[in-house]
Amino acid sequence: MESIQAGYLTNFEAQINSVDEDSVVLDRTLFYPIGGGQNWDTGTLSWDGGELVVSEVRGRGDVQHFVGEDHGLAPGDAVSGKIDWNRRHAHMRMHTAQHLVSGIVYEMYDGARTVGNQIHSDRSRIDFNPIRFDEEMIDAIFQKANEIVETDLEVTDCIMTRDEINAIMPPDRTNMDLLPISVKQLRVVKIGDNVDLCPCAGTHVKGLGEIGEMKYLGKKNKGKGTTRVNYTLSGCES
Ligand SMILES: [Zn+2]
Repeated sequence: MESIQAGYLTNFEAQINSVDEDSVVLDRTLFYPIGGGQNWDTGTLSWDGGELVVSEVRGRGDVQHFVGEDHGLAPGDAVSGKIDWNRRHAHMRMHTAQHLVSGIVYEMYDGARTVGNQIHSDRSRIDFNPIRFDEEMIDAIFQKANEIVETDLEVTDCIMTRDEINAIMPPDRTNMDLLPISVKQLRVVKIGDNVDLCPCAGTHVKGLGEIGEMKYLGKKNKGKGTTRVNYTLSGCES
């Protein structure tokens, strides 16, 4: 995804590049493939007289759109792609919420790191290490997160070098220290004026207000100092 604004586009025209038994690769796509903890987009591919549901999207570079067997599509065919906006928008809201909460936990609790995340449309989770949360800490995190959401700070993105990122945020907060040294330039997602800054390829909302109310769903001790926190957002509950 090239920009925050591009995350709001849902319709596109494309040609089939190659086909497999149950999937197709397009010459261009707006479908987000699973990656970076964020789940894939769903939607449809349609053409004169036909339509297929895209149920799963995987891979970088050659992005595979899974449309089921006997799809009948061939290289060169023109199709119109359409993203399921409700699901995409839920992912955008959930993902920006994750960045916000990860930053808050790092700041409030002695640099506790985000060591994993799963962004889904109905509920999401973040793994923190090293930390054990009590109810008071959890309340403080979600209260702070909801307060910041209400300020409706702008969310932007840009391309930055490794050194530029590390000059603004500690490498263990952005997980820059885990990236291969060969990666020199990264797409960075920024909340407000560096309230949070994180290298990320996911889709995000353009303002924090779009996140709505964040709701804590529970936590789980995953061992070795890792605690998983589950949350959802207003309107996303399954
Ligand atoms: Zn991210």
